[in-house]
Amino acid sequence: SKAPVTILGLGLMGQALAAAFLDNGHPTTVWNRTPAKAEHLVARGARLATTIDDAVKAGLAIICLTDYHAVHDLLAPADLDGAVLVNLTSGTSTEARDTARWAAQRGARYVDGAIMATPPYIGTPDALILLSGAPVDDQLTALGTVNHLGPDHGLASLYDAGGLTMMWGILNAWLHGTALLRTAGVNAATYAPFAQHLARGVAEWLPGYASQIDNNAYPAEASALETDARAMDHLIAESEAVGINTALPRLFKTFAARAISAGHGGEQYPVLIEEFIKPGNE
Ligand code: NDP
Repeated sequence: SKAPVTILGLGLMGQALAAAFLDNGHPTTVWNRTPAKAEHLVARGARLATTIDDAVKAGLAIICLTDYHAVHDLLAPADLDGAVLVNLTSGTSTEARDTARWAAQRGARYVDGAIMATPPYIGTPDALILLSGAPVDDQLTALGTVNHLGPDHGLASLYDAGGLTMMWGILNAWLHGTALLRTAGVNAATYAPFAQHLARGVAEWLPGYASQIDNNAYPAEASALETDARAMDHLIAESEAVGINTALPRLFKTFAARAISAGHGGEQYPVLIEEFIKPGNE
C-alpha cells in the first residue's frame, strides 16, 4: 500500500500535486487556507485536515505555498516534532538552508525541493522534481521524475536557478535573433528551426568547456576570446544598422572586454567564468 501524504497549499500547483497522489492511490490529506479549493479533491477521496497539526502528522507533509514567508507564517504555531516536511515552495538556497535549520530545531526532518514543471505536467515523467536535504524514499514518484541531489538543502533551489538562467538565456538570444531576421521580412517560424539547430549544437560544447573550467585551463582549441569579441562588435554593429535593441550583444561584449583586459584574449570562451563568479550587476 502507498505511503500516506499531506499537501499543504492547494494553489494551482498544490492541486496538481494532490491530484497526482490520488491518481496513484496514496491516502491523501489536504489543507488550504481557503478550504473551498479542497472540495473537488475531497470529492475524489482526499481527506480535509481540520488543523495544521493534524495535516503535518497525517503523513509525509508536502508544502507548496507562494513563498517561504507564507511557509513560516503557516508552520510557526504548529507542533512539528517528528514530522517529515517536503517543501516544494520556490525560493532561494539561503531560504532553504535557513528553513532546514529552523525545522531541525523543532524536531522535524526537512527536505527542500523545486518543481521544474507547470501543473499540467505533474504526474508525468516530464515533471522534474528536484530534492535536497534529508533522504526520502520513493514516496514522491507519483509526481514525476524525482532527482535527489544530496544532503545540502540549498541544492534544489540552486539547480532550479541554474535551469532558469539557461531558459531565459536561450529565449532572449532567440528573440534577439528573431528581431534581426524580421528586419528582412523573415518571420519567426522560418528562423526558429535554424535557431533550434544552433542551440543544440552549442549545447554539445558544454561538457568539453566544463572540463576546461574544472581544470582551470583554457587553451584556445577552437577559437580565441579576442576572435569572439570581434564577432560581438559585428553583432552590435548589425543590430544598430537594422535599428533593433543592442542591449544583449553589448552585455556579451562587456564581459568579453573585461576578460581581455585581464589578459585572457588568447584563451577560449569559458575563461569568462572568471567574470561570472564574482559580484557585479552589469
Ligand atoms: P498559487 O498562487 O496558485 O497558490 C498559492 C498557495 O499559497 C495557495 O494555496 C494560497 O492559499 C497559499 N498561501 C499563500 N500565502 C499563504 C499564507 N500566508 N498562509 C497560508 N497559505 C498561503 O501558486 P502556485 O500553486 O502556482 O505556486 C505555488 C508554489 O509552486 C510557488 O512557490 C511557485 O513558485 C511554485 N511553482 C509553481 C509553478 C506553476 O507553474 N504554477 C511551477 C513551478 C513551481 P489560498 O488558496 O488560501 O490563497
